[in-house]
Amino acid sequence: MATYELVDASGIAIDEKRMAPFLTAFRGTVLRPGDTEYDSARRIWNASIDRHPGVIARCSGLADVIEAVRFARENGVLVAIRGGGHNVGGRALCDRGLVIDLSRMKGIHVDPKARRARVQPGVLLGELDRETHLFGLTVPVGVVSKTGVAGLTLGGGVGWLGRKFGLACDNVISFEMVTADGEVLQVSADEHPDLFWALRGGGGNFGVVTSFEYRLHPVKMVLGGLVVHSRDSARDLLRFYRAFTQSAPDELAAYAALLHTPDGMPAAAIAACYCGDLADGERLIAPLRSFGKPLMDAIQPMPFPVMQTVFDAAVPDGHQNYWKSAFLRELSDEAIDVVVRYANQATSPLTAILIEQYGGAASRIGVQETAFAQRQTQYDLGILTQWTDPAESERHVKWTRDFWDAMSAYGSGAYLLNFLGEENDATIKAAFGANYDGLVDVKTKYDPTNFFRVNQNVQPKPVALA
Ligand SMILES: Cc1cc2nc3c(=O)[nH]c(=O)nc-3n(C[C@H](O)[C@H](O)[C@H](O)COP(=O)(O)OP(=O)(O)OC[C@H]3O[C@@H](n4cnc5c(N)ncnc54)[C@H](O)[C@@H]3O)c2cc1C
Repeated sequence: MATYELVDASGIAIDEKRMAPFLTAFRGTVLRPGDTEYDSARRIWNASIDRHPGVIARCSGLADVIEAVRFARENGVLVAIRGGGHNVGGRALCDRGLVIDLSRMKGIHVDPKARRARVQPGVLLGELDRETHLFGLTVPVGVVSKTGVAGLTLGGGVGWLGRKFGLACDNVISFEMVTADGEVLQVSADEHPDLFWALRGGGGNFGVVTSFEYRLHPVKMVLGGLVVHSRDSARDLLRFYRAFTQSAPDELAAYAALLHTPDGMPAAAIAACYCGDLADGERLIAPLRSFGKPLMDAIQPMPFPVMQTVFDAAVPDGHQNYWKSAFLRELSDEAIDVVVRYANQATSPLTAILIEQYGGAASRIGVQETAFAQRQTQYDLGILTQWTDPAESERHVKWTRDFWDAMSAYGSGAYLLNFLGEENDATIKAAFGANYDGLVDVKTKYDPTNFFRVNQNVQPKPVALA
């Protein structure tokens, strides 16, 4: 039988004597193989990921995070950081190492007067929306309510409001972070500005973020939802989508999707969210409602947190997942033809192909102002392959890769960090783009031994020998 005990860098098991001081000092829950809750605690959104940490340390607060970092450091233990557990490549977990599990750190404090919110790293998007919505305010985050705010923000964070208010990372005022030495840093434009730059798009490379301070924006009701057409009209609908998005104001964002309806019918859809005056929104959305013969038009005024759940049912917990994505140079007729051809041959009806529209405010921030470099491209293609039977993985993965390869002619060569699954170093580097070298410098300064490496890794410069 396989053993999954915690090991040090030499592969030697950490015995009870070495564990004891940590177990005494830690206030949260320590879960180990064999514990009742261990298997549920190592389950994350993507069921394809099956890792066995030696210890899952469910932190109750900042002090626990410091204890976990120091224990791992002193004992040469590999560390992973878990926020919402939605990283497609499973970077929230590691085998036989220690998971710093932040999922129980769910504090949210909204200051409506200052239009700021303090948020702990175990908070999910829907939980944040629920609290800020009480005051008619919101943080621009992503589009699925169960995604973790922490990983999403550190990777940039694209969502419905990005065209109006920028990315999630553009709306961070400050971070609290625990370094690889177990030191607590307050990070903002005035304190550790290099780290403030790197944490806004550089992923989980630099430390454990224990608190995010966000700027809030007044958004209460939006005009949003889906218009669904039959798959036969996919080509025309995607061409319409291109024209519709090119004339959209910042308040409007639209995504196109080729997917199956819940009863298994191949469909093509456009999802839209308009966050300005609702009457203006109706006028702008009118061409979308009147294009072709929709099977369903569910665009309507709705509270913003409801808009944030429109895609939830399409990406449930527990499916097998393999995702690929790429920014497109342009959404040409030829590119549309390839997308539709592959969509019509999809190996699983659970798979969704998504074209997301960016631009707007997020693209008016300079490429080097934050670590998030990919601000110029309008459209990102996501191939979100999902299925249920692990025995079928090979054919679903193959179809995804073939599709992705066929799209390479239309790609910009850049990638969205947050959508990367298990990718090679070159793709990760391409996602960081022009900011990669700057990130190496910050990594070398704050984490020279690459203690935090279960992530989309930026390797520090080798230590110079004296
Ligand atoms: C269904 C679904 C929908 C998504 N929608 C969007 C979207 O609309 N917009 C978007 O931008 N992205 C989206 N993503 C991608 C998502 O933002 C990333 O996968 C992100 O990593 C998820 O964050 P998490 O906290 O849930 O991740 P986890 O899997 O818990 O963590 C992933 C990695 O993030 C880092 N990390 C997490 N928390 C911390 C912390 N507190 N301190 C330091 N490092 C940390 C670590 O490196 C960790 O390995 C989506 C993903 C899924 C599966």
